[in-house]
Amino acid sequence: MSDLKPLPHHLRRIARVFVDESMQDSPLARRVRDRLAATTHADIPWTVVPPDAERVAFSQGDAQALYLKEYKGRFLRFCPGTRAYHCCAYRIIHIGENCPMACSYCILQAYFQDRLLKIWANQDDLFSQLGEAFSADPAARFRVGTGEFTDSLALEHLTGYSRDLVAFLNDHDNVVLELKSKVVDLSWMDGAKRTDRVLPAWSLNAPFINEHEEFHVSTLAERLDAARTCAQAGFRVCLHFDPIIHYPGWREGYSQIIDMIFDYLTPNQIAYMSLGSFRCMPQLTPIIADNFPQATYIYNEFVPGLDGKARLLRPLRLEQFSFMVNRLRKHGMDKQLYFCMESSEVWQHVFGHTPKHLGGLANHLMSQAFGE
Ligand code: SF4
Repeated sequence: MSDLKPLPHHLRRIARVFVDESMQDSPLARRVRDRLAATTHADIPWTVVPPDAERVAFSQGDAQALYLKEYKGRFLRFCPGTRAYHCCAYRIIHIGENCPMACSYCILQAYFQDRLLKIWANQDDLFSQLGEAFSADPAARFRVGTGEFTDSLALEHLTGYSRDLVAFLNDHDNVVLELKSKVVDLSWMDGAKRTDRVLPAWSLNAPFINEHEEFHVSTLAERLDAARTCAQAGFRVCLHFDPIIHYPGWREGYSQIIDMIFDYLTPNQIAYMSLGSFRCMPQLTPIIADNFPQATYIYNEFVPGLDGKARLLRPLRLEQFSFMVNRLRKHGMDKQLYFCMESSEVWQHVFGHTPKHLGGLANHLMSQAFGE
C-alpha cells in the first residue's frame, strides 16, 4: 500500500513546478521536491527556466503552478498605504507573490492575472538583506509581516518558509513577525524560541461572506481553533476584519462571528484587531464581476476615496463600524481595535478618539505588537 499523503485541499490544484536554473539546487527547491514526492502529487512535472527566459507562461484550466524564483529586488518593503488616511505602517517581508486560494474580493487578482504561485527561492539573499536591516540599529524596532502579496501560510506545507523566518528571527529581538492567513498550518510553531515575537493572525468575516465569497480556505471555526491553539501555547494572536462587506443580513452575520471569537479567545490573548471596509481599485471591479458573478456587493453605493479606490459611502461605513465596535467592546476589546485606512473623522466618530491620542497609529501598533 502507498504511503503517499494527499496535499492539503488548497494546494491540490498545483499541476506543475517551474524553477529558475540558478535555484534548482537551493535548499528551498530541494525541500519542495522532497515534500511533493511524499504526496499523491509526486508526479508533478518540473521545468527548469533558463536565465535568459523572457517570462514563464502557464495556462491549464484552473490548475496552478509553483514558480521557485531567484528574486532580484528588495525583500523588506514599506506597506503601500497612502498618506491620505491613517496607515498602520507595517513592513513587508516579501517572500513571494500570489495565492492558491480564491476570495472574490482579493486585490491580488488585479496585481497578478496568472496562475503562477511565485516563491523567492534565494532565501540566503533574503536573510542577508533582513539581517543587515534589523542589525543596523539595534534600538530600532520592526513590526513585519509576509501576508501582503501572498497568504503567509498558504504554501507552508511545501516550503516551510514561515518556519525558516521564525527561526531566523529568533536572533533578532527587535522584530515582531505577523503571520497572516486564511488557512491553518502550525508547523512553524516549534521553530519559535520566543512566543512574544511572533503574532499568528487570521482574517475573519461574516459566515455568509466566508461561505459565498471565500474558496479553498479554512472554515472560521478552524481558524479560531488554530488561534486558540497558538494562544494556549503562549502566543498572542491578531485578527482582521477586512474587508467588511455591506450585504443584506450583515448585522446578524458580523454579530455571529464577533460572538464566536470569544468562544475561543479572551481579549488579552489578542494583540490587535483591524477593521477595514471593502475598498476597490477601479480596475478590480470588472475582474471581480468576471471571476465571481455571484459577488453582488460590488454594486453597492461607493464613492471614490482619496487613495483612488472606491469605498462604501461614509454613513454606511460608520453604521457598520459603530455596530461592530460596540459589540467588540461589550466583549472587552478596546485599545486593540484599529481601522485600516480611515480618516481621523471616522476614528473620532466611532472610537471617540483619533490615532493622535494613541501616539500615532504606527507607534500604537508597535507597542501592542511588543506587548507593552
Ligand atoms: S486568502 Fe487572502 S491572498 Fe488568498 S485569495 Fe483570499 S484574500 Fe487573496
